Amino acid sequence: MAIDNPARLVDVSAALAALEPLGAHQYCIAFGPGSMQFCATPNGYSTIHLPRKVFRDLLAGQIKKVLHASFGNNANSYFFTYEMQDGTIAHRAGSGIPAGSRCFPDRISSASKERASSLHVQLGANRSYVAWSGSLWVCHGISGGLRAVRHHSSSIDIDDANGSEGVLLSGTIDNMAWHNDSSWYFKNGNAYAELRTGSGAEVLREAWHNLIPENLAYVAINPHSLTGGTFAFFEKAQDGCEPNFVLRFEPEDVVSRLPSRSNPPSIHSQVINVPKNSEGLQVFQWAASKYTGRSHARDAWELELKKGEQMIPHVDPREAYVRSTVDIEKMLKAGNIRTFPDLTRYMNACTKDACSPQKADPHHLGICSHDLYKLMQGSGDYCLDTLKMERNKWHPDRFARYCHSDDRETLREKAQALFVLFGVLMEKTPAPEPVA
Ligand SMILES: [Zn+2]
Repeated sequence: MAIDNPARLVDVSAALAALEPLGAHQYCIAFGPGSMQFCATPNGYSTIHLPRKVFRDLLAGQIKKVLHASFGNNANSYFFTYEMQDGTIAHRAGSGIPAGSRCFPDRISSASKERASSLHVQLGANRSYVAWSGSLWVCHGISGGLRAVRHHSSSIDIDDANGSEGVLLSGTIDNMAWHNDSSWYFKNGNAYAELRTGSGAEVLREAWHNLIPENLAYVAINPHSLTGGTFAFFEKAQDGCEPNFVLRFEPEDVVSRLPSRSNPPSIHSQVINVPKNSEGLQVFQWAASKYTGRSHARDAWELELKKGEQMIPHVDPREAYVRSTVDIEKMLKAGNIRTFPDLTRYMNACTKDACSPQKADPHHLGICSHDLYKLMQGSGDYCLDTLKMERNKWHPDRFARYCHSDDRETLREKAQALFVLFGVLMEKTPAPEPVA
């Protein structure tokens, strides 16, 4: 692909934050090869590495919501569905999607506007795909078990050289996911919902057994992972609380906020149960294990992106704030702190020249007041009281009590620096200068 501009850092987090979040119980977690991800939830959006065209779509400011996203097995294989500001539905397809998954949208779009607006294209590994609109579907390359279920759920089902197509007996497809190890999930309205797990997916199966199917809102399985063990399940949010979930990014631990219903309890001692936040806010923390620095330097996607715009993960400040709060509480609870949290993992948005020496100074925090401002905006309640409360966590004397004696003095200094940075924001409250 021709590169118009040299590497340039463009911050998409503001564009993501400007989108309208999905409605209650609506999710889309799209896993791509390497570390590529796009997540849309009722709490906002986050992404790691986006196709260039999608990136431009987001920056153009015409999109109201991203309803659906899916990544195939190469850099140009992706399909996004947008709800635009004017209420219309639009799609963005990469040039590398399988031919069959391209014909169907073309056919549907020319048939009727209504059909086009219910179009879904879900891409998988090895050029597999399922596309559907209303009761019509086409598919290619999905596993035998999932194929059989489609057959039983359909009144018409025709195979040809390019794949299969058919018409569902009732309803439409609400949610589908699959992996080549023969794990899959298929939900067809109230008519059918099932998850099957392949032989290599014990962790997925165990997670599934802890869920109450009727409560389930969404299932995603990463089709590009090695063993089918990267997945996300969300239950429906109850009584205005944040939803329970189970998720895992291979090879990391399962992160769960579900009461264990298996007996005996989990065979997987590595399950991290995410507690509910002490202030009553039930924290949406599914991104916990997303940014632990797995390297995919040899991945084709990554190479593509090195030439492109987006070099660091950009997150919705709301999500970044929640993530930082949970991590920091966990750290304080564990005590014996030996290293200061890397705050750039949560927010690293400011590119002002004036700030770069401070941000590059290894004795400092890695972030500036603009970054902290942006992170704190994610609290949804940016005011003097919130700043004061957050600042208190970093009072050097208080913080030092949580630190290992060998590192206490160094860590105290860092806490002091952060305490001072909060002070800078407090002086400027109600609002400092916005990030350029
Ligand atoms: Zn700055």
